Amino acid sequence: MAIRMAILAAALLALALSHGAMASDPSLLQDFCVADKLSQGIYVNGLACKDAKDIVAEDFFFSGLHMAGNTSNKQGAAVTAVNVAQIPGLNTMGISLVRIDYAPYGLNPHHTHPRSTEILTVLEGSLYVGFVTSNPDNKMFTKVLHKGDVFVFPKGLIHFQFNYGPTPAVVLAALSSQNPGVITIANSVFGSTPSIPNAILAKAFQVEKETVDMMQAQF
Ligand code: MN
Repeated sequence: MAIRMAILAAALLALALSHGAMASDPSLLQDFCVADKLSQGIYVNGLACKDAKDIVAEDFFFSGLHMAGNTSNKQGAAVTAVNVAQIPGLNTMGISLVRIDYAPYGLNPHHTHPRSTEILTVLEGSLYVGFVTSNPDNKMFTKVLHKGDVFVFPKGLIHFQFNYGPTPAVVLAALSSQNPGVITIANSVFGSTPSIPNAILAKAFQVEKETVDMMQAQF
């Protein structure tokens, strides 16, 4: 009996782990499931579907990526997202897009997309880009990109883009989720609400509390 229970427990654990590893947008079960913004329906994953008879071409359409984002901010970069929030027809499609504008010396700071790999192509300018692998190696891969170059940021890994040149830069990037999500490292660590106690951050980063206070003050 005990052996049977142990086997059952092991099987359940294996099942739980296999589900945990499936952190991608699920496969389609129909042609599309245009997000219904008015629906009060149950959200199993993604958004509830609009009634097929009400679906129009505009549900799959967005206009405006020809326009530069406003880069007059501390980082000198602006992300214009085109995901399921902008195009309801992207619901359940497992894909989305961003335009990123960089002022001269602008930075898209270290961040990660919990649900998506990113493939980026440079339309204008030059960038120094990179990502860092997970523990224990924490190995950084970097590349200088010019117009027409393409680079991949693997799912979940921390990455950045820096415009080291004196002219503006523009990229278009595709992401493998309808809702990739963004975790900006500095904001999450030093700018959370409520904030992480400075004693805890001081221990985590092996610095004085005053240094943490200084970092937190930036957010
Ligand atoms: Mn990114």
